[in-house]
Amino acid sequence: MSKRDYYDILGVSRNATTEEIKKAYRKLARQYHPDANPSDKNSEAKFKEVAEAYEVLSDPEKRSNYDQFGHDAPNARGFDFGGGFGGFGADMGGLGDIFDMFFGGSGRTRTGPQRGADLRTDIDITLEESAFGLEKDIKVPRIETCDSCKGSGAAPGTSAKSCPACGGSGQTQTSQNTPFGRIVQSHTCSRCRGTGRFIEKPCSICQGSGRVRRSRNIHVKIPAGVDTGTRLRINGEGEVGLRSGPPGDLYVYINVLSHELFTREGNNINCELPISFIQAALGDEVDVPTLYGTMKFKIPEGTQPGAEFRLRGKGIPDLNGYGKGDQYIKVKIVIPTRLNERQKQLLNEFAQISGESTVSAAENKGFFDKVKDVFMG
Ligand SMILES: [Zn+2]
Ligand SMILES: [Zn+2]
Repeated sequence: MSKRDYYDILGVSRNATTEEIKKAYRKLARQYHPDANPSDKNSEAKFKEVAEAYEVLSDPEKRSNYDQFGHDAPNARGFDFGGGFGGFGADMGGLGDIFDMFFGGSGRTRTGPQRGADLRTDIDITLEESAFGLEKDIKVPRIETCDSCKGSGAAPGTSAKSCPACGGSGQTQTSQNTPFGRIVQSHTCSRCRGTGRFIEKPCSICQGSGRVRRSRNIHVKIPAGVDTGTRLRINGEGEVGLRSGPPGDLYVYINVLSHELFTREGNNINCELPISFIQAALGDEVDVPTLYGTMKFKIPEGTQPGAEFRLRGKGIPDLNGYGKGDQYIKVKIVIPTRLNERQKQLLNEFAQISGESTVSAAENKGFFDKVKDVFMG
């Protein structure tokens, strides 16, 4: 069973503000609270679902993780390695503990500058836009430095102090005797969560995190030749880093919408050209659509159904600048379904002149002989 989308569970849009999320959560939590629905298993499950969705969406970091990776999101960037040390063989609790034991601590993930997360955004463009390129502002919800406290997390006019529990190092140490001797283990300070800082009066805008979630317009240049699946990297437009770490990058994934007339195959364009059987037989000059506007095309006399013609250089420009693809026109011959008496008369006359059939008698005979072979042995 697939897990429901957290935004759907709370009934909010993906751009919902923290306030909207909180409001939606409160309403649903009241509705499904086990006290309000005693012995209703369904409500209980709903209540848990709502609580889980809220836990993730109310935390900017978890939410951003979820936006990018969905339910497969790792719990947090910078795993919390600081957990208890359970002794050899008993509870290794993951690689983090092993690193802690032998290399003295997990500070590497906690206290140093940490690069901001990369972001992904998907955009739909038309086939024409993919052929000619475009510039566009796209809205990207992301985590940025809080303007109100300039990222310090402390209310304006106050500042963060050194954490009293760890003296500002972000680490506390414990030692333990093991069969290998005494091992000193560093833990991430639980009071300040490794930041080394203590905020007495947190900024009311960011609740002390120093970072806020904001929808930002980002100008992107999409080059000619992109296709569905092309990924563009916009340097430094991901999320802001932690502790003066550099920002992440923004990845724009392109999706080219289907077109009414054209399909794309590599850098070539395919299209169908419906013509009448008379145009096919006699030849004609028609207007054909291309990405570069309509152009005159000469249908040769005696064109067969399914015949394909190539218009050189009328395809999509190569993304790496290696020329342009071609356009292929596939002829589709349209047979009239309603003929008036006069038209029928003329076609009958035509048949008579051609000797009963437009297919030569010999070819015709050959075909029916084959049918006989196949079905009657
Ligand atoms: Zn703030
Ligand atoms: Zn501390």
